[in-house]
Amino acid sequence: MDDHLSNALAEELGKLKSICLGSSAASGPLDPARESFDRVVAGTAGIVSYLAQAPQTPAETIAGRMGLDRNELELSYKLIQRTAAATDRLKASPNGDYLNIVKHYFINRMYVVVFFVGLACPGRCRFCPNVTVRSDGSRKISRYQGKKSDRISSREINSVFRDMSEIESRGVPVLVKISGGLEPLSDPETMAVILGEAHARGIRVKLFTNGLLLDTGARRRLALDSGDVRISLSVIEEADFGEVMFGNDLARRKKYGLAFLLDNISNLLRERDILTPDTRVGLNTIVLEENYRDIPRFIRLAEDLGVDYIDFKPNYFSPYEEETQAYLKETIGNLQEIRKKSSVGIYFAGSLSSDNLFWTHREGVCHPHKQSRYKLFITPHGNCSPVHHGAFPTAGTGHDHLGKLYSGGRLSPDQSLLDIIGNMPAMPDLEYEKLNPFEHMLALEIDRDERDRAWGIPKECDPYNYPLADNIRQIRDNPLLHRI
Ligand code: SF4
Repeated sequence: MDDHLSNALAEELGKLKSICLGSSAASGPLDPARESFDRVVAGTAGIVSYLAQAPQTPAETIAGRMGLDRNELELSYKLIQRTAAATDRLKASPNGDYLNIVKHYFINRMYVVVFFVGLACPGRCRFCPNVTVRSDGSRKISRYQGKKSDRISSREINSVFRDMSEIESRGVPVLVKISGGLEPLSDPETMAVILGEAHARGIRVKLFTNGLLLDTGARRRLALDSGDVRISLSVIEEADFGEVMFGNDLARRKKYGLAFLLDNISNLLRERDILTPDTRVGLNTIVLEENYRDIPRFIRLAEDLGVDYIDFKPNYFSPYEEETQAYLKETIGNLQEIRKKSSVGIYFAGSLSSDNLFWTHREGVCHPHKQSRYKLFITPHGNCSPVHHGAFPTAGTGHDHLGKLYSGGRLSPDQSLLDIIGNMPAMPDLEYEKLNPFEHMLALEIDRDERDRAWGIPKECDPYNYPLADNIRQIRDNPLLHRI
């Protein structure tokens, strides 16, 4: 038993009892109610440990496994919500990222619209879901099917932003991401329209790019028009960079080397400091079997370049070898002090840990249409999908028809973004292993949230909804609180 956590929970339970019932704090050691009081504290500490391992577990399941009833769960959840030590324990767990998903989508009620911009990419990355490595070593990149005349128009983009303003007017903040798919900067005209609309309406935009096309002043200025530019950089040696990014395509290796990319980033940062000092620029690094020992070098590079942050994420499509997992655990632990002192924000995705639920909870399916309540992907041809799996170029190819299966419809003069969200059809279930970690966590939380409300746990007692900690209306009549 963790004394710090138990003491904090006991103190908070005493306060809660006093606030709700007007009695003096916790019962004394000889009070017969003390046993019940201690039982609540011990049970709540057990629930915190359980949620740290499996934050997606519905209350009814926890109650069944721990032999508790709904009133006990409700009181314990309220206690977790109000106790900083419990919150800290959940945040520090390998599943701490889960709380960020809850915060963005369920507490702040953010809506995310992701424009997949770009019909081409100079890269041919080995780990890219759009890339097929042929038997002769050459690489083929999948492209979106569809005519040029069917591409999303400025008018349709304008209509999407009108709907986003409508969403914001309902008190839901909107975040726009420009990403891919393929490389957004391969279609600067569409990017310019999106950025212009976003500026006019004061909507935040994040850009995700591989940085290879940041070699002209015009494209760099365009990139800097977004509030956050996240550049992929997953290889630190020139020779490896060529191999991972382009394979045996020698022409591309010659044109787009690592030095070329670093030059682009340096120029971008120099111009950022003069033109748009508020724009954040960071690196997005996929930790691979080939580069996991380079994490300290990536951090030094980020510091030397002068970027604002570096994000380390896993390759979602393949788990790590055991040796790699052990190395990552130790390295991330050892870097805590460096992280505090660094001029760069250093972030490690929770899913880099093999204890994270992305790897431990692979069995199951999501109901894609439910994700459209929180986010939507828009392809270069205006098709809208609630999951990134339905928006990749491969989704539109003949062999799997994913584009059709997971499309909620195409934007048109007769069908706006809000129409599509409002009439989202039920879609075939999608296996968790096809989701990225954020979608995976969102799917689990949608399910947990629905099941908890259905079982009678009020939103005001949700263990992760800390802003509702002072809302004790629902807990006043909890019979257990009256017995302790
Ligand atoms: S840069 Fe991105 S889109 Fe292009 S091949 Fe690599 S991973 Fe795929």
